[in-house]
Amino acid sequence: MQVAIDGPAGSGKSSVCKIIASKYGLTYIDTGAMYRSVAYVGETFGYDNLEDKVSNIDFILEDNGKKISIKYEGQVYDLTTKIRTPEISSKVASVASIPAIRKILVEKQQSYAKGSDVIMEGRDITTVVLPNADIKIYLTASPEERAKRRYKEWENKGNPPKFEDVLQDIIKRDEMDTNRAESPLKQSEDAIFIDTTGYTLEEVADKIGVIINEKRDN
Ligand code: C5P
Repeated sequence: MQVAIDGPAGSGKSSVCKIIASKYGLTYIDTGAMYRSVAYVGETFGYDNLEDKVSNIDFILEDNGKKISIKYEGQVYDLTTKIRTPEISSKVASVASIPAIRKILVEKQQSYAKGSDVIMEGRDITTVVLPNADIKIYLTASPEERAKRRYKEWENKGNPPKFEDVLQDIIKRDEMDTNRAESPLKQSEDAIFIDTTGYTLEEVADKIGVIINEKRDN
């Protein structure tokens, strides 16, 4: 079974996917983490010839979506926490708008999904990466609700940025992700729309669970 989920930053995709992956025995693939890793490579090793650098990266996805490392020039870098910074968040949408980078990552994502039971989330999964997925879902929530969730995550880690900065990052990324020329974020016609505003992520996972059970029974 292939479950494809798209939606803007903070819509609850990753938390919901983790719950569903463990409940239904699916492999969770967080494609945003891959784009974030590319931004990390640009920031750390320079943006010149980024496409060549990315084509030489091996992504190592472990612990069912909880850990991501890359192998670059023979060395392994654990990026799990390093890609979750305000700096990387503010850079990632620009690298994700480069068609050559998207092409490389989309091919890798399609190869991970081939013949596997996966739940994959991002911005172009229902439209480009897995257009024939068994279940397609578009998750969203108001920008304020999404910023509150992100702010809470920062608070739990300690030393949060200002709420207004978190909200502005989300609004700016929405703008870039929905308006870029290459594979913009949009709701695919056959995706089920779920507005998560006012719901807990467990409640959202339950809703999706009902959809998965129905599909399995048919
Ligand atoms: O999901 P997350 O917020 O970690 O994604 C970070 C960024 O990566 C997004 O804002 C978007 O610019 C990019 N992205 C993308 N396509 C995907 C997944 C993420 O362009 N499939």
